[in-house]
Amino acid sequence: APSRPRFNRILLKLSGEVLMGPGQFGIDPDTVARVAGEIAAVKEGHELCLVVGGGNIFRGLAAAARGFDRTSADYMGMLATVMNALAVQNALEQIGVETRVQSAIPMNTVCEPFIRRRAARHMEKGRIVIFAAGTGNPFFTTDSTAALRAAEMGCDAVFKGTSVDGVYSADPKKDPTATRYDSVSFNRVLSDDLKVMDASAVALCRDNNIPIVVFNIREQGNMARVLAGGGTATIVQN
Ligand code: UDP
Repeated sequence: APSRPRFNRILLKLSGEVLMGPGQFGIDPDTVARVAGEIAAVKEGHELCLVVGGGNIFRGLAAAARGFDRTSADYMGMLATVMNALAVQNALEQIGVETRVQSAIPMNTVCEPFIRRRAARHMEKGRIVIFAAGTGNPFFTTDSTAALRAAEMGCDAVFKGTSVDGVYSADPKKDPTATRYDSVSFNRVLSDDLKVMDASAVALCRDNNIPIVVFNIREQGNMARVLAGGGTATIVQN
């Protein structure tokens, strides 16, 4: 496999599902602790920030399909990401990693509000900044948040931790001829509607020339290998 570059300032996107562990819903403390351990292992030598999703607790779109008002449902989804952010923060601090949570929806007794310059300063000091509450706007996703914050924070790449080992030419569950890409262009992802991140997130990364690295975060030790430029992953780039 062709090697990927090693990136310095990185945004890691964690879907809410990653925190569920073996369950179907919510936050599994053992799983959060394991993910925190993986993050701590790659902290040295990188400037890291995180965007956490909320799908393990609440998804606006799914709730709207069942009759909820979409904007209220999206705010509930954003609040769910704050719970996840606090869980990840707690697990990281228990193993001695300094973190700050910054929320796009200010809630000053719980965490800091999102302030770009302050976030940059935290990262320079070696703290991991965890961005919560998505973009603060309904009708967006935390994938788009990841693309936006990566651009704002001048990140070299977005790392998307999922439960698959990269991007496939088709859904491997439906098409037995599907193959995994080592590298694929943003435009192919968009034209073939490949499942990486939602289209607006992919377009934002493309337009700002920020590669997306898709990798399996459930596999022990994989994140360290992938961040070092090895391991199994797909890089989406121009
Ligand atoms: N959300 C939102 N605006 C944002 C980010 C998230 O309204 O900028 C809401 C939306 O309802 C979404 C929920 O928060 O369904 C949880 O985020 P997401 O589905 O992206 O989480 P993930 O799939 O990564 O776990």
